[in-house]
Amino acid sequence: MASPQYRAYTARNFREIPQLADWPESALKEIETVSRVLPFKTNNYVIDELIDWNDVPVDPMYTLNFPRHELLKAPHYRKMAKAVENGSPEHHLKAVARSIQLELNPDASGQSANVPLLNGHRVSGAQHKYRETVLFFPQAGQTCHAYCTFCFRWPQFSGLSHSRFSGRESGALAEYLKLHPKVTDLLITGGDPMIMKARTLAEYLEPFLTDELPHLKTIRIGTKTLAYWPYRYLTDSDSDDILRLFEKVAASGRTLAIMAHFNHPVELSTEAVRKAIARIQATGAQIRTQSPLLRHINDKPELWSRMWRKQVDFNCIPYYMFVERDTGAKHFFAVPLERCWQIFRHAYQKVSGICRTVRGPVMSATPGKVQILGVTEVADEKVFALQFIQGRNADWVGRPFFARYDKNATWLNGLRPAFGEHRFFFENELKGLLLAKMQPMG
Ligand code: SF4
Repeated sequence: MASPQYRAYTARNFREIPQLADWPESALKEIETVSRVLPFKTNNYVIDELIDWNDVPVDPMYTLNFPRHELLKAPHYRKMAKAVENGSPEHHLKAVARSIQLELNPDASGQSANVPLLNGHRVSGAQHKYRETVLFFPQAGQTCHAYCTFCFRWPQFSGLSHSRFSGRESGALAEYLKLHPKVTDLLITGGDPMIMKARTLAEYLEPFLTDELPHLKTIRIGTKTLAYWPYRYLTDSDSDDILRLFEKVAASGRTLAIMAHFNHPVELSTEAVRKAIARIQATGAQIRTQSPLLRHINDKPELWSRMWRKQVDFNCIPYYMFVERDTGAKHFFAVPLERCWQIFRHAYQKVSGICRTVRGPVMSATPGKVQILGVTEVADEKVFALQFIQGRNADWVGRPFFARYDKNATWLNGLRPAFGEHRFFFENELKGLLLAKMQPMG
């Protein structure tokens, strides 16, 4: 098979993309303007094998990678465009961009409150929000093979320092884990950890493969490489080393779960992705799949049922359908919660039981992961039925609760308790946990 060399295109060099050669200057200026505010990166695989250029600009993969003016609210776009058109100096352009970025909720879901402490010092690059699971953000994995226009991690890629998490090494986190025997899962995330060279990833992983962490059962790696650069596992210079590293994790007696991010069935359509999946699975790793539900990209039940079916055909495990987070270009991608639920259930109805490992639609919000069970009527009131499938307090998990029906709500913070109550059952406790910059309970 072909073994293309990876080539990234960003705000700096996107005018070299061959498919844009005939585009009018006004369209290129639009990309330039938006990419001043929101990070932009694509690559030759996405451009050559995933985007259908006959369908641009509505093509889902184009929408997933390329900036467009609708990603910014009109006043923000006008403000940035004016600065660009005036030929403002670079420092002024940066200041305008930063002022807009700060209005886009860069610290969504209170992530900065979850940093663990070891001997009174913050363990940099880690988050411990749920009792069993710790997240680690290796510093060398703070970018991706391409950037998703909807991504809630856009502040990390934009240099908003208070929103950036990253750890230079994993030794301190391994020490922290030794003191927390209830942690069974470590999620290595980014950016995209699989952007790292095999040698670098090995340096981060090895401290966790010790016998001194018998309670650490699962190592998960969150990645979109299978969708954005499957050659990572096929023909990159260290592809084989990556696979040997995966085998080493399995040999340590732990489960390695590749948490693969697929937004659209087209990402599962190439020979490269099919072969990459098979090579990963041959190492003993399992692949679980997840994606947010996004207007303009995948807001149709049949796209999800096709995706789940194809994933199962490839021996992958459908895992999560997420609700788009309340940050960045949320206004462009958001789907009202009731519609999210309708899309989920119609897709779910179309597939057999083997695909129904998937859970959704789920909001990964400040108090925890909240699943929308549906819209129903209780005591003559139309309500959303909800439940936690992860909570800052493990005791919240699995408890159904109800919110007043709101046809426009797109996130948990837009919902109010049903039945005339003033607070959801978890709110007082949550406040205390956040104030204390809490460690997870238990
Ligand atoms: S690959 Fe993942 S981390 Fe990177 S931009 Fe996309 S969603 Fe965000």
